[in-house]
Amino acid sequence: KPTLGGKFTKLMEWIDETKTMAVRANADTPEDAKQALEFYAEGIGLIRTEHMFFKEGRISSFRRMILAETVEERAKALNEILPMQKNDFYQIYEVMGELPVTIRLLDPPLHEFMPVKEEEIRQLAETMSLSLEELNGRINELHEVNPMLGHRGVRLGITYPEISRMQVRAIMEAALEHKSDKNSDIQPEIMIPLISDVKELSYIKAEIEDEIQKVFIEKGKSLAYHIGTMIEVPRAALTADKIAEEADFFSFGTNDLTQMGFGFSRDDSGGFISEYMNKNIFENGPFDTIDQEGIGQLVEMAVERGRITKPNFKIGICGEHGGDPASIEFFQRLGINYVSCSPFRVPIARLAAAQAAINDR
Ligand code: PEP
Ligand code: MG
Repeated sequence: KPTLGGKFTKLMEWIDETKTMAVRANADTPEDAKQALEFYAEGIGLIRTEHMFFKEGRISSFRRMILAETVEERAKALNEILPMQKNDFYQIYEVMGELPVTIRLLDPPLHEFMPVKEEEIRQLAETMSLSLEELNGRINELHEVNPMLGHRGVRLGITYPEISRMQVRAIMEAALEHKSDKNSDIQPEIMIPLISDVKELSYIKAEIEDEIQKVFIEKGKSLAYHIGTMIEVPRAALTADKIAEEADFFSFGTNDLTQMGFGFSRDDSGGFISEYMNKNIFENGPFDTIDQEGIGQLVEMAVERGRITKPNFKIGICGEHGGDPASIEFFQRLGINYVSCSPFRVPIARLAAAQAAINDR
C-alpha cells in the first residue's frame, strides 16, 4: 500500500477516475518495485533480467556459463545461477502480489558481461583453469562490430536455449512457490526480446514451453502464464499480424525501434549523436518523444495488424517514451493498454494518461 498520502493520494485517485490506460513501471529489483508501488504503478511492464546478473557473487558464475566450452560446464554454471534467479523473481512477486509483472528474457550482447580489469581476467582464468591466452581468446570471440545489431535478445535464446530454459524455470518455480505460500493467483508474463520474424518466436516458445511443462510435472502443480513479445525491430512491426498469432501480448521497445528506424546508434549516444541532436534539425529528439510521422506510424501499423489477428490484443509500451507526456497522448489515441516507465516517472505518466484520456473523449 502506498504511504505518501495527503494531496498526492487525492491527485492519484482523481487520475484513476479519469485515465483509461494503465501505467506500469520498469523495475529490476524489489526496491524499484516498492518505489513503483509508492507512486501508484499498476504493475511492472519490464524487468530487464540482464541487470540481475551484474550483482556481486553471481557475475562470476554467469561469465563461466558464457565462456564454457562444453555443455556440461555450461549446465554446471547455470545450476549455480538458477536459485539466485528464482529468488530474484520470488522477491519481486512478494512486493507486487497479483499485479501483472512482465519478465523479459536476457537481452544484451554477451561481451557486456566480460571482465575488463586485468586482475578480474586473471582470477577468472584461474577459476576456469585456463591460460590467460585461452581465456582472452574466448572473450575476444564475443566482441562484435555492431553489438546492438548482433548476438542479443531472442538470438541468444536460440543459440543458447539453456539460458532461456533456466530463466523460465526460475520464473515458474518462483511463481508456483508464491502461489502455494500466499495462495496467490500469479500469472507470469514472459517476454521475448528482439523478435524480427514469427518463426523466431515459434522456435523459442517451443523451447520454453517444454521447460515449463517439465516444471509443472516435477512440481505436480501448474498455473496460467502468458508469453508475449517485444516489438522493437521494424520488421516485427511490419509483420505484427503474423507475430500476434504466436504471442499473448506485445510490448513496444521504442528505444530500439527508434534506433533501428532512424538508423541512429544508441551505443554512441555521447559523441556525434548528442552534437547532431543539438543542431535541432528534428523538432523533437526522437529518443525523448515518439516520432509520430515515422516511428509512430510503425507502432500504429503494428497495433492495427496485431488486432486484426486478435481483437482486444493486449499492447503496452516499455521504451523510454512510455514516460513522456507527448508520447503518451499519441499512445492513447492508438488504443495502447498500458505504458511502462521508470518508477520516478510514474506519477507524471499517470497525469499525462489522465490528460490524454480527457483529450481523447
Ligand atoms: C527498448 O528497446 O525500447 C526497450 C525497452 O528495451 P531496452 O531499452 O532494454 O533495449
Ligand atoms: Mg530493446
